[in-house]
Amino acid sequence: MRYAALASGSKGNCHALSEGGRTLLIDAGISLAQVRARMTACGLDSSTVGAVALTHEHSDHRAAVGVLVRNTGWAFLATRETKLAVESAVGETIPADRWIELRAGHPCDWDGWRVLPFSLPHDAVDPVAFRVEAGGCAAAVVTDLGHGTALVADHCSDLDLLALEANHDVEMLRNGTYPDVLKARILSRVGHLSNSAMAELLAKVLSPRLHTLVLAHLSEQNNHPDLARLAAEEILRGAATALHLATQAQPMAVDIRLERAG
Ligand SMILES: [Zn+2]
Ligand SMILES: [Zn+2]
Repeated sequence: MRYAALASGSKGNCHALSEGGRTLLIDAGISLAQVRARMTACGLDSSTVGAVALTHEHSDHRAAVGVLVRNTGWAFLATRETKLAVESAVGETIPADRWIELRAGHPCDWDGWRVLPFSLPHDAVDPVAFRVEAGGCAAAVVTDLGHGTALVADHCSDLDLLALEANHDVEMLRNGTYPDVLKARILSRVGHLSNSAMAELLAKVLSPRLHTLVLAHLSEQNNHPDLARLAAEEILRGAATALHLATQAQPMAVDIRLERAG
């Protein structure tokens, strides 16, 4: 399985999982042109995309949905509540024959791939993260959560790859220039995951199988890549897990099997 963080951060999110000539995107917060260009830059073929799984309706996760409905034949995997919220936000209806209905906690069989959406504590109508299993590999993309619940930890165990939010450093956020109401939202139980909360969750789910950790959805204002990296490294100490940072500006990709072999 090949994983790519095409873009990650408050200005737009899109992850790609590719296996056996098929690609599933997770979220559509960057333009279709950017999806294509960034996939190419990561060695992925955008003509292999079959579907987009939507985590929630915040604009940085669904901004391109209208364009994708009109200009691609891709299917959309989403819960009913998220689909409705996205449709009303983008002013476009996802055609019934291109919608695969998800329910949090229930695995979906996407032509042989196991796609499991699970609930997150976040201020959206029905936010989920995804655990995806295909070709013998298991990966999860977990961002936009206010805190790490036991349910999240359960679903992040025994993974090959975990893309996990490291949104902010609590002190940088507290002392930063964001309005108080926004600071309170981000710090809340349904906001975003801090570096220290990420580390706590990582400590619970770290296993010998975890071959790659990707820190994602880093705030450009309220975090520093070195701080996020340090928080993760303290937990990874001694583990064989490779650590990567997903960014807003540059895509990054990892081949799970390739790294295992090497
Ligand atoms: Zn977000
Ligand atoms: Zn969000």
